[in-house]
Amino acid sequence: MSTLKITNPADGTPIAEVPADDAASVAAKAARARRAQPAWQATPLGARSAAIGRFRAAVDAEMETLARTLTQEVGKPLAQSRNELNGFLGRIDFFLAEVARTIAPETVLADGAMTERIEHDPLGVVANISAWNYPYFVGGNVFVPALLTGNAVLYKPSEFATLTGLHIDRLLHAAGVPADVFITLVGGGAVGAALLEQEVDGVFFTGSVATGRKIAEACGSRMVRLQLELGGKDPTYVADDADPKAAAESLADGAMYNTGQSCCSVERIYVHERVHDAFVEHFAATVRGFRSGDPLADGTYIGPLTRRAQLEVLEAQVADALAKGATLVGGGKRVDRAGNWFEPTVLTNVDHSMAVMRDESFGPIIGIQKVRGDEEALALMNDTRYGLTAGMYTRDEARAAKLLGRVRAGSVYWNCCDRVSPRLPWSGHGESGVGVTLSTYGIQAFTRPRAWHLRSP
Ligand code: NAD
Repeated sequence: MSTLKITNPADGTPIAEVPADDAASVAAKAARARRAQPAWQATPLGARSAAIGRFRAAVDAEMETLARTLTQEVGKPLAQSRNELNGFLGRIDFFLAEVARTIAPETVLADGAMTERIEHDPLGVVANISAWNYPYFVGGNVFVPALLTGNAVLYKPSEFATLTGLHIDRLLHAAGVPADVFITLVGGGAVGAALLEQEVDGVFFTGSVATGRKIAEACGSRMVRLQLELGGKDPTYVADDADPKAAAESLADGAMYNTGQSCCSVERIYVHERVHDAFVEHFAATVRGFRSGDPLADGTYIGPLTRRAQLEVLEAQVADALAKGATLVGGGKRVDRAGNWFEPTVLTNVDHSMAVMRDESFGPIIGIQKVRGDEEALALMNDTRYGLTAGMYTRDEARAAKLLGRVRAGSVYWNCCDRVSPRLPWSGHGESGVGVTLSTYGIQAFTRPRAWHLRSP
């Protein structure tokens, strides 16, 4: 059997080697899930919810162990790993509170002998192919509502977050989710591709546009429910009436939190010329205050990049921007130490000829562009293939509503950024993907409606 080697991105040291799946074991696991699903669907919602409730309690009880594992395998600073786990508990609470109401049968006509009713059946067996950057969030957005609504789940954590995936597997089973109803597949892209060859009823993917495209092609002829949560190049506009210091502090966090490796990281900033210089000064000062270093140490804010290959992407974006006339305000290069380290980087005098303003960076780097007003900012915000989130900082709510209502993005933010709520739908336009997770839409996504036409004899 082949194995998967797991390396600590903070120093390049090996931390574990785990047995990996291959095409034959993926097929066997998919067959087991198919056989087990009907009994799980027949299990009352109360019992399914109780199992997820016990899982939640176990995650809470083991939080420190889980946080340290996450930090060691993806390099996320420990405080941010704890934040993710606490946020995950909140999402589970939302799903537990809303699932019964969301999938309750609904009588839409009761007219003498004729009754019409809608019921919500599970899809069946769903594939949950996940990214590494927030494994509890992006995995849990799928497996929690999928299990609650009666689906079996074939869960493929990212090869960069496998130990976390195995913790999730262990805790779900200990909580009472049957071993064949939630099955974990270990490995990289080839294992994900093997999963797509199985008979599944839904494919829920979070990851890069490049992989999303391959998945869409593989599913194209399959007639399965397909959701793709992909990348972003999320813009924010700071208007002339905004407080430049408050906006800079908020946006520096939005750009650099999780070392810039969030799908909804702030990736482009447009600043009105009247507040531009003050904004840049406060932004640079805030970034200089971020402590970079051992992600397990208290007070660390910037960790290593999880994937080594991203160092080259960031280097190329800096070189391209500087060659085209950008100004480097801070950072700009790798840190000379073991592991995958890049300096937090701030570029100004940027424009849309530069890759840093067009292509997802997924790292601690930001371009800040000066604009003359709202219409120019709006045009630049919409000049993108992506459309995940967008924001505006202004004192004037009506002005924000006017601009944000015209931005092509699934989520829009007034005076905030890099924020996800379980109560709100999470979706993207363009290359940011198709489908919805979170909110009650993100529960319905794992069901199909059955239309009952009932005539009494
Ligand atoms: P990735 O595309 O490299 O990998 C994602 C998953 O796909 C992994 O589990 C991987 O093993 C698997 N995979 C790779 N090739 C495959 C194939 N041919 N068939 C099936 N599966 C395959 O992405 P990543 O580096 O893990 O994640 C980072 C990306 O995810 C970023 O672009 C980020 O913006 C995006 N993301 C989006 C959201 C969102 O909600 N929109 C959330 C988190 C991350």
